[in-house]
Amino acid sequence: MMTGDQYLQSVREKKMEIYMFGEKIPNSADNPILRPSLNAVKATYDLAQMPEHEDLMTATSHLTGKKISRFCHIHHSCEDLVKKVKMLRLLGQKTASCFQRCVGMDAINALYSSTFECDAKHGTSYHKNFTDYLKQVQENDWTLDGAMTDPKGDRGQGPSGQSDPDMYLRVVKRTPEGIVVRGAKAHQTGMTNSHEVLVMPTIAMKPGEEDYAVSFAVPTDSKGIFMIVGRQSCDTRKLEGSALDLGNCQYGGTEALVIFEDVFVPNERIFLNGETDFSSMLVERFAGFHRQSYGGCKVGVGDVLIGAAALAADYNGAHKASHVKDKLIEMTHLNETLYSSGIACSAEGAPTSSGGYLIDLLLANVCKQNVTRFPYEITRLAEDIAGGLMVTAPSEKDLRHEKLGPYIEKYLKGVDGVPAEDRLKILRLIENLTLGAAAVGYRTESMHGAGSPQAQRIMIARQGNIEHKKALAKAIARIGQ
Ligand code: SF4
Ligand code: FE
Repeated sequence: MMTGDQYLQSVREKKMEIYMFGEKIPNSADNPILRPSLNAVKATYDLAQMPEHEDLMTATSHLTGKKISRFCHIHHSCEDLVKKVKMLRLLGQKTASCFQRCVGMDAINALYSSTFECDAKHGTSYHKNFTDYLKQVQENDWTLDGAMTDPKGDRGQGPSGQSDPDMYLRVVKRTPEGIVVRGAKAHQTGMTNSHEVLVMPTIAMKPGEEDYAVSFAVPTDSKGIFMIVGRQSCDTRKLEGSALDLGNCQYGGTEALVIFEDVFVPNERIFLNGETDFSSMLVERFAGFHRQSYGGCKVGVGDVLIGAAALAADYNGAHKASHVKDKLIEMTHLNETLYSSGIACSAEGAPTSSGGYLIDLLLANVCKQNVTRFPYEITRLAEDIAGGLMVTAPSEKDLRHEKLGPYIEKYLKGVDGVPAEDRLKILRLIENLTLGAAAVGYRTESMHGAGSPQAQRIMIARQGNIEHKKALAKAIARIGQ
């Protein structure tokens, strides 16, 4: 396994084509806006080296018997699935941001079982391709960007109905050596920090849409791939050099629009190529795994936010008020409810024919549906407890100013024994999590990451088995007996 520093160096050595604010960025390691997001991925490597976290952060490869990062592991038991959720909660607690590496983990787990079942039906050899690739992933301890979301253009039309056929990533050429693909993937979490990109289709495909039913992996610095980093609230604050004003100066997440301009994929790195009937399985399983993930990562970030809100109350002396205590109880209740469904869908997992374990899809979708709501309420309560100073506090430069500093220390202090600076630090952290750069990962990503709320409702409808429930009601009511 790589150490965190080796990981940093490996990203520096990649020749990724990254653009931000209209300029080309040499790499994410040496850019002040991108570096915190790289640090968050680095934490997945650093924690794996710590003996106290070994049980959660590492696993034994079923392919080689070697110790590997859990992020490169195929879950082979419900215990594995539960440990995954616990690992993500731990990382959420340590980074208070999106640490990005889970999308790749969820992609390999979806592909492992889907390629196996596709081969069984179609006589293809995708599972062997994929298993060979997975060995490289594990050996090199790569971070993978799991790429699913296409731009989708006119939402009233599917891939084949678009006026521009590139709105869904597709095969544009087939050669004896491989395929050439064109299109884009949007909102790509962690792409600038990844060694490889693992592409999957974004929706179920119909016959006639074979060119869109494609899955493959290529290095992130492959010819024809370039990425445009998305803006985040308060992003340029990172250029000001004030750790205090950032709230969380060490960690963050990054998303990018990734363009695939006629990228060549060799045959051995293709995991689906035209089998439209397996597109939906891949989408459902990846989405299911990533919806399980949110029952871990968002809970860990929620832990930090609840702690910050409690400290804000300690620092201004409101901590003994019964309504403050009650709000902290409510936040904890909501946060642990998210965790409960993350654990539940893992504990109710089951093996697929490949041997890889799959979460309970209904419970994973319920988990993510809750995530589209509860962090908003937790955020509201944190802002309530924090008070208006969270959005009116002066900058660190004012605090350090010869004339202004003493006045800020005097008038923005709360209880005795806690300097105004500590109070400001906690308020900035709450600002970061609720309104700043981390709010991308905690709030809006809670809504749309791993699929927007309606996507989960479709799955809940499919998995809810209403007919079975009707039969139960009929039996009790003695109808038709
Ligand atoms: Fe991982 Fe959560 Fe970020 Fe998804 S949103 S990549 S599960 S940390
Ligand atoms: Fe996400």
